[in-house]
Order: sequence, then C-alpha cells, then structure tokens
Amino acid sequence: MSVSALYDEKIELLIDGEWCQGSDGASEVLENPATGEALATVPHASDADLARALEAAQRGFKVWKSMTAQARYVIMMKAAELIEARKQQIGRILTLENGKPLAEAVPEVQFAADATRWYAEEGKRAYGRVVPARMPNVRQLVLKEPVGPVAAFAAWNFPASNVIRKISGALGAGCSIIIKPAEETPGTAVAMARCFQEAGLPAGVLNVVFGVPAHVSEVLLASPIPKAVTLTGSTAVGKVLQGLAARTLKRCTMELGGHAPVIVHGDADLDLATRTLVAFKFRNAGQVCTSPTRFFVHEALYQPFVERFVELASVLKVGNGLEPGIQMGPMIARRRLAVMEELVGDAVAKGAELKLGGRRIGNQGHFFTPTVLADVPETAAIMSSEPFGPIAPITPFADFDDVIARANALPYGLASFVFTRSGALAARTEEALDAGLVGVNHMAVSTPETPFGGVNESGYGSESGIEGLDAFLRTKFVTELAA
Ligand code: NAD
Repeated sequence: MSVSALYDEKIELLIDGEWCQGSDGASEVLENPATGEALATVPHASDADLARALEAAQRGFKVWKSMTAQARYVIMMKAAELIEARKQQIGRILTLENGKPLAEAVPEVQFAADATRWYAEEGKRAYGRVVPARMPNVRQLVLKEPVGPVAAFAAWNFPASNVIRKISGALGAGCSIIIKPAEETPGTAVAMARCFQEAGLPAGVLNVVFGVPAHVSEVLLASPIPKAVTLTGSTAVGKVLQGLAARTLKRCTMELGGHAPVIVHGDADLDLATRTLVAFKFRNAGQVCTSPTRFFVHEALYQPFVERFVELASVLKVGNGLEPGIQMGPMIARRRLAVMEELVGDAVAKGAELKLGGRRIGNQGHFFTPTVLADVPETAAIMSSEPFGPIAPITPFADFDDVIARANALPYGLASFVFTRSGALAARTEEALDAGLVGVNHMAVSTPETPFGGVNESGYGSESGIEGLDAFLRTKFVTELAA
C-alpha cells in the first residue's frame, strides 16, 4: 500500500454542521514531510465561507450556551470516547502529516481525549459566588458566563493537543468556536472534529476552516462576532493577531514562542539529567515550544555532561515516524533545514564546538541529524532566536546569579528547567526564573489539569487547568434588592 493510501482522512471544512469544500475551489496540496509524497488536498475557505462560519458560530453560541452544563458534558464525554477509540487511526494521520514518531503521536491523541474529559467536567464547575451585601435585603451574585464565539489558530507542531485545548476549552465553558488549524496538519483536526459532530454537537458550535493564514485571521478578527481570540503560534504572529483583535477589543490568549533555559546545577544527578534532556530535546525533532534550547551546565559537571549527552544523542534512531523503533522524525518543512544549517554555521563561526550532527540526512524528506554544540557563546544567534529544531547548544556556568541573569536575558518566558538534588537550590532557582513554567528534575510541564502558558513575549493567559476554562469565561455582577 502506498503511504498516501494510509492517509484515510478527507480534508474538508466544517461550517454550520456541514462538511464541505471551499466555495471558490481554492486549495493547497498537503505533503508528507518524511517522503515529500502528496497526502491530500486542503480546501481553502472563501470569504463567503468565512462569513457563513461567523454567522454559524453566532447561532451556535446561542444554542450551546442555552444548554445545561450537564448536557454539554454528555456530548463532550462522548466525543472524548470516540477520540480515544480512534487514537491509533488519528495517530497515524498525525504522523503522516507532521512526521513525529507514532510513539509520540498516539499519546498526543490520548491527551486530546483526556483534555476533553477534563474540560467537560470543569464546565460543570464554572462556579460564581455570593458576596455578603452592605445593605439589608440585597443579594450580590458574581456569575460566570461563556465569553462568546471564539476565533482560534493553532500551530502544526502538536496537531492534536494545540487544537483540542482550544476546542474543548471553548466548548467546556459554553462557547462556540471557529478554529483554523495549521494547513500543514489538517487531518488530525478534521478527524477530531468528526468525533464531536458524531457525538451530537449542535450545528455551528464547532467550525473548522483552512486558507491563507494572514487572510483568514484578518477576516475573522475584523468581525465583531468573535469575542475572544486564542492563538498557539509564534511571537511574531501573536503580535499581529493582538493588533487585529484590538480593533474590536477581543479578549486574547496568546500561547507563543519560547527559548527554554535548562540549568543543570553542580549537584545534579548526571544520569537522570542527560537521559531526560536527550529524550525531551529531540522529541518532535525539537519542534516544541517548551523544548530545552539553552543548556547552562555547572562547570563541575560540564565535561561529563557533554560527553554523556552526545553519547545518548548519537544513538537516536532517525527516520519515518511510521516505522517501528524510530525516535525522531523529519522537520516540518524543507526551508527549516537551511535555518538549522545557518544556526550551526553561525555558532561554529563564533567559537562553538560542533560535537554531533549539524547536517541534513539524505534527499528524501526533511531530516536533520540530532545536533550538539558545546561552548556556545551568548553572541551566537541560536542563544537568542528560537531554534525550533533538533539542536542542543550547551554552555558552562560557575555562579548562581550569573546563570539566572543569562537564563532571564531574553524577552521570552515560557518553559524553564532545573536539575539539582537540593530542595533549597531548586526553590531558589524556581523563584528566580522569569518563566510561566518550571520543571525540576523532569519535563512534564503540560497536563490537562495544570495551567500551561508563558509570560513576557511568550504570551499571556493559560490553557488547561481551571485557568484554561477561565480564559473562555467572563464575569457578570448582579445585585438584587428584594422589592
Ligand atoms: P505561526 O505563528 O506561524 O502559526 C501559528 C498559527 O497561526 C497557524 O495556524 C497559522 O496558520 C496561524 N496564523 C494566523 N494568522 C497568521 C498570520 N497573519 N501569519 C501567519 N500565520 C498566521 O507558528 P508556527 O511556525 O506554525 O509554529 C511554531 C511556533 O509556535 C513556535 O514559535 C512555537 O514556540 C510556537 N508554539 C507555542 C506553543 C505554546 O503553547 N506557547 C505551543 C506550540 C507552538
């Protein structure tokens, strides 16, 4: 069977409960990043389609909001069940369009089912409160209401989890949503949206569109219908969308780029640190917003750390994510290979030592070797611009205040990581790091139950956890005098 025959998802738009192609026939071809083979055609929504989606979201909002939280819960739990039941099939689609190994793709789809259950449950707990009044016979109520129709945009690097946090967060709060998943990974979103439709979601509550990103966002955000915008993407696009949202003062949740520092203190468990960091660094070929991207290692551990890290990284199995045993897949696009080469060349020219990799693999697909750079100076471009690829730049440090200043030197503030055996040193480092997420001795900073989000130019607002639901709720104060 050819690979494209395995891609058993037809890409369609979902507007007002109907699956359709774009009304003006525009489309683009979707390629498998591991082979370059065409997988499917992605329809583009025309302006008329986007207008229909906006009106549908407006109507869908009224219907969904008026249902009880319990009725919404039942539909979302059914959708979660369908996603879980289809996780192997959806995982294969995810691997074919994104490239990551199946062993990463299937758990990501499981995350989507888990997150949907979490939001379904939390929707029943969108509690307000009763505030004692200053006057007799007055009752003061603080009510939580869904904010309104939501416009959502998601990056391709987590085709299931980036999309589901938006869909299930909005639905759990009682909002309708128009989502534009990434054109690079449309099938995962379409497959999950089918689960919601089959679970009985009313028409117009969930709408899925594709197109030319800058145009789709311009059209959707110019409309007064969406009351909130949520983006998972780059800082550059976040700034553009926030500007567009400002015209109608839409609420924003911005999950943007990062450049995560990892501080390995001198007392760290070397084996734990290297094994954990190699696994996490090369996950999804380094195309992860929380990927460790600046390795600060205490000079007492520096040499053994670099040696062990290189040893572990050099035996990673790189290849087509559908094949068994593959640990790292291709990069999403050919142009990203040139960016990796430039970052490596620049670092070496500025004095870094190339310890491993630094080159493309073959001509088919977009494969780059796991790469390790040691003694990387702060002036190297990779130390300030998000690499979003399989490169680990390592540099030594000697002093606590100095390493904190270096870790906090960038405008980003998403993830950060610390390795130490000392509870006191861990606490001191956690407090000093200017970041939205801190992982100590492990990297699991994203679960359905815990808030996920950055600070500074990594954005603001959280997804997941009770904070994730709050992003889609607004507050109404009601005061009643008994007449
Ligand atoms: P991107 O910003 O180019 O695109 C993100 C999404 O926005 C896509 O769906 C894209 O089509 C859409 N988009 C909307 N308007 C757009 C416009 N005017 N121009 C371009 N795209 C527009 O991001 P990317 O390169 O696809 O993804 C990688 C980035 O996402 C990295 O910076 C990464 O750190 C970040 N990211 C952040 C998180 C997080 O939770 N903080 C998670 C994953 C990825």
